[in-house]
Amino acid sequence: MRITRAGRRISGAALALLLVPFVATAQQEGDVDLGLRAVEVLQSYLRIDTSNPPGNEAEAAAFLARHLQEAGIPYEIFESAPGRANLYARLKGDGSRGGAIILLHHMDVVPVDPLSWNVDPFSGVVLNEFIYGRGALDSKAYGAVQLVTFMALHEAGLPLGRDVILLATADEEAGGRLGAGYVVKNRPDLLEGAEFVLTEGGSASEIGGRQVHFVEVSQKMPLWLRLRVTGPSGHAAKPLRDSAVNRLVRALERIRIYRGEIKLVPAVAEALRARAGYIVDPAVAEAFRNIETSIGDPAFLAALAEEIEPLLRNTISITVLNGAPNTNIISTEASADLDCRLLPGEDPGRFIATLTDVIDDPGIEIEPLLVTDATESRPGTPLWRALEATARARDPEAVLVPNVIPGFTDSHYFRELGLVAYGWTPFLSSPREGPAHGADERMLVTNVERGPAILLDLLERLAVSREAVGGVR
Ligand SMILES: [Zn+2]
Repeated sequence: MRITRAGRRISGAALALLLVPFVATAQQEGDVDLGLRAVEVLQSYLRIDTSNPPGNEAEAAAFLARHLQEAGIPYEIFESAPGRANLYARLKGDGSRGGAIILLHHMDVVPVDPLSWNVDPFSGVVLNEFIYGRGALDSKAYGAVQLVTFMALHEAGLPLGRDVILLATADEEAGGRLGAGYVVKNRPDLLEGAEFVLTEGGSASEIGGRQVHFVEVSQKMPLWLRLRVTGPSGHAAKPLRDSAVNRLVRALERIRIYRGEIKLVPAVAEALRARAGYIVDPAVAEAFRNIETSIGDPAFLAALAEEIEPLLRNTISITVLNGAPNTNIISTEASADLDCRLLPGEDPGRFIATLTDVIDDPGIEIEPLLVTDATESRPGTPLWRALEATARARDPEAVLVPNVIPGFTDSHYFRELGLVAYGWTPFLSSPREGPAHGADERMLVTNVERGPAILLDLLERLAVSREAVGGVR
């Protein structure tokens, strides 16, 4: 099918909206056809169940590839395990603007509890102003927008000054080892000449009448551990003090009450200070400006515990538990999984050593399931400036704020290779959207409609050769 960039059509309704600052519509953005196309692609994309486990990204990759095929863009699909596919395509540039930019999203989604949904989570249904479906926010909408924009860039035929890569990966929700992790380890050829990565992890909203874009530049580092312990077997009618389960429970209780020390690492300090300018309450803003001293104030920490404490400590969540298969059996084995999140710059080995001291039981084995390195991308790059210019074209007062997130995305795999990766999307979040990973996950249709025009604008600023845009960007 044809993807056309429509002209700047401004309807009467949109003109009325122009009087309200910062309410951009698809019409205002001009690329009506692209916006509608993105909505259509997203609806079909949401109907493919890529719940991970098992993932089944092969079907999603084939779906995205069909569009590339029709647009005449070569692509490659490669499996990291049966049914676990990744998709790659590259538009070639002459390199005059720099290295390639990768548009990255993950095709897998977290599983659903269908009973807690009010709509079919795999229907892609549009109701009122929203598109519903597992993955609407995380991250199939971004995937649909990236695909449509990538095809539009190809169709526009503008000479590119750098390569633009489309990369759709598997397994992000389970740590990415079969997706982005697989690509960096086994297919470095696909990343040749790459400089930038754009993916999920950023957010933008209107604060105090202007757009504030929180661009993710760093994140906490997942360290997933399995504790294992063995012990004597027996009949549950005769309790054993030192059974495997009892020892595990004792270790877990020590972990439950353990709190790592408060630490302010440089990336977090910078991000929290930058937030100060966009906090309405002057006292709270002042506290953020002086974050070094504020973290010593228990009242400040208590008030903001949920929001910022994960950025100030290494954290541990006890998640999976395994013991006997039956109520009346004393199991010889017990295990528990811990989801630990370390601050940027922390040493996983040292953290495991601390945990070993906390557990204080040499019988408990600690097996790492996922170890990553948290690294940081600095603001101020050509990609940063292009993002800023793109935002300011829509709101002259818009600002970009470097942010550190407590969760993680696939960005760290690319940062470890030295690429600059930013968490940024073309969407303006609304509190009525959401929740990612929750029931009735939904995105505003207007966000999806506007997405391609904004992303295309960014790519024109960043990747189209200077001659083609008159050297103004
Ligand atoms: Zn995600």
